[in-house]
Amino acid sequence: MNWMGQQLVWIGISLAISLALSFFLPFYISLPLTIAIFLGISFYIRRRAMARMGGTGGGGFGGMLGGGGSGGISYVCISCGHKFKGGACPRCGSKMRRADF
Ligand SMILES: [Zn+2]
Repeated sequence: MNWMGQQLVWIGISLAISLALSFFLPFYISLPLTIAIFLGISFYIRRRAMARMGGTGGGGFGGMLGGGGSGGISYVCISCGHKFKGGACPRCGSKMRRADF
């Protein structure tokens, strides 16, 4: 996907988010929230463009979504650091976990 295409996709995503938000939230909340999301996304695009100029790019959307290869998202237990898949840590049973990309 080329540069303009990606930007259009992001604009589409932020528009979709703002539409969804305006269903649930009153206008005076959803509007600044939409602006914040839009600014965040454009900041993200710019930062990635910088990274692309620095290196060979590669990754793109696949790099963002695909993460660490096949088999879905794995998690790292916050209490003991054990890496696992699924709902709770098999070592200590804690459900405090973060996604590991
Ligand atoms: Zn654990």
